[in-house]
Amino acid sequence: MNLSCFAVLIGLLLAADVSAQGASKRPVLVPVCIANDPHVRRVAEALSFTSLIFERVGVRIVWHQGFVGCDAGSIRIQLRENTPADERPGAMAYAMPYAGFQVFTSGQGSTGSQGSFHIEVFYDRIEKMGERLAPRLFAHVLTHEIIHVLQGQTQHAAEGIMKARYTQNDYSAMLQRQLTLTRADVELLQQGIAARAKRLRDERLLLAGQKGIVTEESERSTGASVD
Ligand SMILES: [Zn+2]
Repeated sequence: MNLSCFAVLIGLLLAADVSAQGASKRPVLVPVCIANDPHVRRVAEALSFTSLIFERVGVRIVWHQGFVGCDAGSIRIQLRENTPADERPGAMAYAMPYAGFQVFTSGQGSTGSQGSFHIEVFYDRIEKMGERLAPRLFAHVLTHEIIHVLQGQTQHAAEGIMKARYTQNDYSAMLQRQLTLTRADVELLQQGIAARAKRLRDERLLLAGQKGIVTEESERSTGASVD
């Protein structure tokens, strides 16, 4: 199954999930581009679990495979292999919440050039955690890092998905789908999404102004927009 088929399937599943909960509020759409990498096909199940976690807090991740055609306001994720042992020892991934989207609107962004990613995942380290845990850990690591970007900060929680460091108990909770976000995490997420949407809007207007054009497109909020 390719990622686009997968995305449609997940969309249908999530739509069913939301309607089952009787949710009437439209979710916030967050476009996320993930490297066009062989691993992406292997981790499709993990991406669906990440989607599910976000859907429960009113956020719908719109996955895009690869960086060609990736919208300027999207979150970009790179998967790393052969991570040197001395590079952020013990870390599974890191986010650059402060990496401005200016980088992505400079023209280089459409190719996903090195250094223009919001999130880098040390996929080799996750894979070493074993066949059973790796997909679930990947889902939680992605969730954790995407939340950092959306919150616009690197604050951690004492428990749950936003902990700075996971323990064996956390791994067990992940496998049982019991590792969650705290209320404070969700509040910060909502505040961050609103601020990000405004920033993206302002940036687009600024760029359009520099070019001397203000199009209808530039006035429309994209990226992590609050609908
Ligand atoms: Zn973190």
